Amino acid sequence: MIVYTKDFLNHNLRGHPACRERLSSTVDFLEAKGVFDKVRLTEPGRAEAEDILRVHSRGHFENMKGIAESGTQVLGDTYYNPESFETALLAAGAVKTCIDSDSKAGFALVRPPGHHAMKNASMGFCIFNNAAVGAAYARARGHEKIAILDFDIHHGNGTQDIFYESDILYISLHQWPHYPGTGAAEEMGEGRGGGYTVNIPLPAGVADQSYNLALDEIVYPVLRDYSPDLLMVSAGYDAHHSDPLGGLKLSTDKYLRISENVKRLAKKTVFSLEGGYNLESLPHCIYASIAGLFDLEAEAYDFEQTEDEGITGRVENKIGEIRKTVSEYWSI
Ligand SMILES: [Zn+2]
Repeated sequence: MIVYTKDFLNHNLRGHPACRERLSSTVDFLEAKGVFDKVRLTEPGRAEAEDILRVHSRGHFENMKGIAESGTQVLGDTYYNPESFETALLAAGAVKTCIDSDSKAGFALVRPPGHHAMKNASMGFCIFNNAAVGAAYARARGHEKIAILDFDIHHGNGTQDIFYESDILYISLHQWPHYPGTGAAEEMGEGRGGGYTVNIPLPAGVADQSYNLALDEIVYPVLRDYSPDLLMVSAGYDAHHSDPLGGLKLSTDKYLRISENVKRLAKKTVFSLEGGYNLESLPHCIYASIAGLFDLEAEAYDFEQTEDEGITGRVENKIGEIRKTVSEYWSI
């Protein structure tokens, strides 16, 4: 199931990197590829206050409502218009719609994104944390083992913040050092959340070559060991080699391979769109993910594996160190 509504385009600021054309051009492309003839397209339900309040403070919820009502404005790095609050509720609701569905796989094609939204604050173009709202909703609905994989190039500091002391597993691969500055390998969760945060920081220049190592040596083995009932994927496409905001070098094909692999590691897999700012390549990257997730015959774009830029040895060592620490918590 793919969940989308045109109402996601209502949140917009002309000329901003997080513009609505990211999503409208993607949906046009998927339509032209015939994706919606093969995968059911559904409108989202709307998240209710109680869904948001499982992971955000009442103060943040009321603040977002008030800001949106007071007109278009930019606060910090995040913009709001009069439609933003309702749009953000629909984005979080789209994840719920995927979770409630009988389909084993879902993709919430949403805006605004979510993974930088903290318990008490919006941040980084994000208003409510869609993946976190989904994970907490799923837990309330009886899913015991829940994991969130985040392959957006930016660390999902909001998701980590929300679940840092909980047994919802959060795994992030991200460029580091980079915005927002969190996501060091040493950040591994606290209290009963110890070991349930797995951060894999990667230097600029990492391509498929070393990214595969991180996936094969850490990400897939941890997910295999945990065997989640529900895997949420914070799917940002700004680690693609063409992205203007990032320094990682993933191929389009990598996104197909990731979704093919992760869907086998959980009973149910729900992707939720995060970043990705190259308007030309973004639709292709999302199509690749969708093809892998829903077993579509995919047209391949750049099957050539991308190569690291002279940093492989250093990255291999770092991944080896992270694997060793993570193996104190997980049988990998
Ligand atoms: Zn991002």
